[in-house]
Amino acid sequence: MSGKIYIVGAGPGAADLLTLRAATVLRAAQVVLHDDLVPQEILDLCPASAQVINVGKRCGHRGRSQEQINALMVWHARETQAQTIVRLKSGDPVVFGRLGEELDALRRSGIEFEIIPGITAASAAAASAKITLTDRRAASALVVVTAHNCRNESLSKTVEPSRSTYALYMPGPDYSKTVQGLFESGHEPKTPCAVVSNAGRANEEVRYLCLGELISVKGIPAPAVLIVGEVAAEHQPRRHGDLLSRVSSEARDPYQHDKFPIHPAPG
Ligand code: SAH
Repeated sequence: MSGKIYIVGAGPGAADLLTLRAATVLRAAQVVLHDDLVPQEILDLCPASAQVINVGKRCGHRGRSQEQINALMVWHARETQAQTIVRLKSGDPVVFGRLGEELDALRRSGIEFEIIPGITAASAAAASAKITLTDRRAASALVVVTAHNCRNESLSKTVEPSRSTYALYMPGPDYSKTVQGLFESGHEPKTPCAVVSNAGRANEEVRYLCLGELISVKGIPAPAVLIVGEVAAEHQPRRHGDLLSRVSSEARDPYQHDKFPIHPAPG
């Protein structure tokens, strides 16, 4: 009988940001094929008897080709006794995880698989930066986009930049090129942004600035997510007449006793 492949999201890189389902599957794994960005504290959840293989291929390093990774998954599922094989990817496997090719290979080979989602870097970065990606007063769209795509496509022009939040994965190392691309897609130099490195990890770093400033910043540690849009100017409470006056009346009397009078408890 073939083994089952669990495609598991490891989250942004802190073990306590892993889902319980991911931890359960890792504790039962016989084989784990993982990417570079997955930290040791998560790999430590695997049983000592598990075969743990780094199949990462970070920029500039020689790693396994996508075909080799696909073949490894298929081989372990078909040709070995392993029943629980984990393909562990950083963040959420369905976001910039090169998952398409791997799913094709599993489907072609008729191997059973299940996807366990993880916290994606954009969510972790927003939490680190203490901002909301879709503050309804500032953004009506969230665009998840990569600065590095295999087809060299320019950043999308299909959404209105001033009313959207862009969560840019892989924004470095050449931030000036990324910012140039954002200008070409209609962003202004004064557009606020937050660059979040190592979101959710002990060494996380958040910088708030505007695109015009970011263009000349050097030495931002990887991995990082760049959040672009009005929501990144979140240090000041937003000035919006209606909402502000409602918020302040609720702040004075959070239970709104005039609207919802308290009745004495029966009996
Ligand atoms: N599947 C992953 C993304 C993999 S692509 C996810 O859902 O998060 C790799 C890119 O993700 C990095 O170049 C960086 O842009 C981003 N990334 C991953 N972990 C991160 C972290 N802890 N902090 C900031 N960015 C991170």
